[in-house]
Amino acid sequence: MIILPIAYAERMKRLLGSDYPRYEASFEEGPARGLLVNTSKVETDAFDALFPLPTRKIPYLEIGRRLLSEEKVGGDPLHAAGLYYMQDSGAMSSVAALPEIKGRVLDVAAAPGGKTIAAALTAGQDAFIVANEVNFSRAKILLQNVERMGLTNVAVTSLPPRDFARYTPESFDMIIADLPCSGEGMFRKEPQAVAAWNENINAMNAERQKEILSDVLPALKKGGRLLYSTCTYAPEENEEIVAYLIEKYDMRLLPPRESLLAATAPGISLRGLDLTNARRFYPFIEAGEGQFFALLEKRGERIYTTKSIPPKVSINEERRVRDFLSRNLSAEIPVINKQGEDYYAVHPLARTLPLRYLSEGVRLGELSGGKFLPHHNLFTAYGDTFYNTEELALDDPRVTEYLTGLEIDARSAKEGYVAVRVNGHTLGGGKAVDGRIKNHYPKGLRIR
Ligand code: SAM
Repeated sequence: MIILPIAYAERMKRLLGSDYPRYEASFEEGPARGLLVNTSKVETDAFDALFPLPTRKIPYLEIGRRLLSEEKVGGDPLHAAGLYYMQDSGAMSSVAALPEIKGRVLDVAAAPGGKTIAAALTAGQDAFIVANEVNFSRAKILLQNVERMGLTNVAVTSLPPRDFARYTPESFDMIIADLPCSGEGMFRKEPQAVAAWNENINAMNAERQKEILSDVLPALKKGGRLLYSTCTYAPEENEEIVAYLIEKYDMRLLPPRESLLAATAPGISLRGLDLTNARRFYPFIEAGEGQFFALLEKRGERIYTTKSIPPKVSINEERRVRDFLSRNLSAEIPVINKQGEDYYAVHPLARTLPLRYLSEGVRLGELSGGKFLPHHNLFTAYGDTFYNTEELALDDPRVTEYLTGLEIDARSAKEGYVAVRVNGHTLGGGKAVDGRIKNHYPKGLRIR
């Protein structure tokens, strides 16, 4: 049983009034689970038919599903194939608040990647997303998730937010700022957030939120949108921050989508500002963990810029990479760039930003001793277009053998590089030699 800090419970009673008992009762239900369907790999109907556990559609997000089961998904082959990403349905509400996404998007605090993934999927190729995470070890987890989902419109950086203002001023059409907070909305799911709560925590977080926003806002274009969100209930970290953006930066608060109104409560107005367009997600209104979000606009007229920086790859190298690609797969890759020893498929808008990327797009592989060695990311992003495949059914024992790192029998694959697929969805790659497939599934991802 979760015991709430007294000062916190008192504040929530004042805030919620007659709804407080419903909030308290939501702790008896336990956390709600949810997932995002990777529509870059599978249609939602096909996913619903294939996924073995019970789910329910999320009314405000087409690609969202509530998972009605406690079962772990870690070793699930469909998860390994990147067909879905676990995301709480409360967090989905702020993603659903995003308007139509086009152009360059910066997700300034992106790890482990939920908002980036949802934005990348709902936007499609009209948008290019820079997923940034200042904490380097968390940035590597973010990259792993982006790779598993096989996203082709996302690059990953690990930079302090002020670097964007410095190197890419007025460059982004949208900024997603899902900022570190006191996590009050997570109390049901993460008991450590309850233990870490104290009476100074909201003020401390509010200072950090203002600092991050002030650092990053110069990177937003005039007329650009900012999605601000937290997973806490404290007005200091929510409506006060929205008021700060309106008062100090002259931003305009925009109305939420119709579909979100029934699932959320209005923001709390203060100092004569009507903040009802900011929204509060409570577990007693809709299943999911607590969330706050507000969509704001920077005043002025937005100008589209597409001036690009030439890729750093020689004609000869690019020819060798393209030669490998055209022999092995049918996907069209418009721009290839080199970063370190690796070649990347990059979104055309990536080459319009002078940033130091951890990953500029899809890591295709490297040239070594005249040969092209494909990277796992080539298979997660483009494996479904490989000519040479080993097709496995979900109940084939070779699925587990492959995911644990073993060599498997080649039954449909010919000699050479091969995409290993389950129910038509790529798990990873390998090389078929003499009727066996040498396993190229990365060591760090193998199940034990
Ligand atoms: N948007 C993510 C998602 O949907 O998966 C969750 C982001 S989490 C709420 C906030 C992130 O902000 C954390 O990954 C944390 O490492 C990062 N962070 C912490 N302090 C920061 C700072 N001063 N500047 C930028 N990011 C920071």
